[in-house]
Amino acid sequence: MANTDKRTQWVEEQFEQSIVPTLVDYIKIPNKSAMFDPDWKKNGHMDKAVDLLAGWARKQLPDGATLEVVRLGDRTPVIFMDIPGTGGRKGETVMLYGHLDKQPEMTGWRDGLGPWTPVLDGDKLYGRGGADDGYAIFASLTAINSMRRDKIPHARCVVLIEACEESGSYDLPAYIEHLAPRIGDLSLVVCLDSGCANYDQLWSTTSLRGLVIGTLEVSLLTEGVHSGDGTGVIAASERVMRILLDRLDESTNGKVKLKELYTKIPKDRVKQAKRTAKVIGKDVYAKFPTQPGVKPVTKDLTELILNRTWRPGLAITGADGWPAIGNAGNVLRPSTTLKLSMRIPPRVDPKKAQAAVKKVLEKDPPYGAKVTFTSATASAGWDAPEMADWLGDALDAASKKHFGKPAMYMGEGGTIPFMYMLGEKFPRAQFCITGVLGPGSNAHGPNEFLHLPTARKLTLCVADVLAAHAQQ
Ligand SMILES: [Zn+2]
Repeated sequence: MANTDKRTQWVEEQFEQSIVPTLVDYIKIPNKSAMFDPDWKKNGHMDKAVDLLAGWARKQLPDGATLEVVRLGDRTPVIFMDIPGTGGRKGETVMLYGHLDKQPEMTGWRDGLGPWTPVLDGDKLYGRGGADDGYAIFASLTAINSMRRDKIPHARCVVLIEACEESGSYDLPAYIEHLAPRIGDLSLVVCLDSGCANYDQLWSTTSLRGLVIGTLEVSLLTEGVHSGDGTGVIAASERVMRILLDRLDESTNGKVKLKELYTKIPKDRVKQAKRTAKVIGKDVYAKFPTQPGVKPVTKDLTELILNRTWRPGLAITGADGWPAIGNAGNVLRPSTTLKLSMRIPPRVDPKKAQAAVKKVLEKDPPYGAKVTFTSATASAGWDAPEMADWLGDALDAASKKHFGKPAMYMGEGGTIPFMYMLGEKFPRAQFCITGVLGPGSNAHGPNEFLHLPTARKLTLCVADVLAAHAQQ
């Protein structure tokens, strides 16, 4: 017990003295993912973030470990650490994964807060990228160092921090191929880029959704015309857009219409959703910053959980072809362009989903309109392999020790493309996917925060899971 308390105290000190101050500097850097900053190379923010995090990690490297910033051609860089084992079975490697690229700013930050303005307020560190997923490199290395201090054996570990996750990890396959001889045979993957349904216990992610992103452009005119002249004669591009969007989902309830975007939900996952609904209750929807009087799409909590984890869902995330309202004349605009973000369930082939979306949008254009759907991103979801007993026991014990409550399991609605890639490449590997993205943390939106007590406890849980992995 005494040792655990000492380790807890040491981890807390690391956060206070070294990790939080470095995260504060990290939040200030606007290193948006390549999709949102095509000139990332010239702008230099990504390199600055890499230098900051790699610089911190170099000072913390355990004995015998190496760190390299790997750069393949024009691709976004990867921080790769190789940490020799002090125990565990020969030839077994654990990968700890995270990312350092960020989502764009988004609007709606509260007064005094902002994406590149770190604010420490009690247990919360506000700012873009602290929780998603800047803290991962700190938690991973600190977990290993806490074990080294107490001479607790761990297997060989590699830490991989990529800079392309928020763009769909399109650079990662090349790095995995390049680094394959140095990665070795993975028996455990630890990923700290996921979510939790509360901050009271350890949550393991059992599935992730995939994602198809694309741009839908509808054009009927080559230039805008007086709306008094054109309406009623030439169809408005926004109305044609509505017709097309109706092909994708039911506007009355949001149900996606394409059968290619569905899968049969495994019975175990339905059971798990029911258990989660019992534990978190109305927080399934009450955690969202809704306007007064807003209700969820259904009152059935299990259905809400299954909707966000095992069913497709559409969001429109951007628009072009519209002037700002203050500058909007009475014009029949020449075109309307929307960015579509379609989440797809695990086990759905992303390429097939992408092709199905394109086909349904582009076929038989109303009024002969010019319609194009351009999609560069189709990421697969992920469904966890059956969990080994040692890992289930370790997660539960760690949760009870550091949170005081048993471990819980749930699917997540977000996407971490790398998990599917790893699952395919290392079918024998076990996965410990967890994270700090809990109620209110609002990654991708305004007012993103890192819940520091959860980050510290997760660090301790990771250490315990690595210890159990080396012992089995
Ligand atoms: Zn992330």
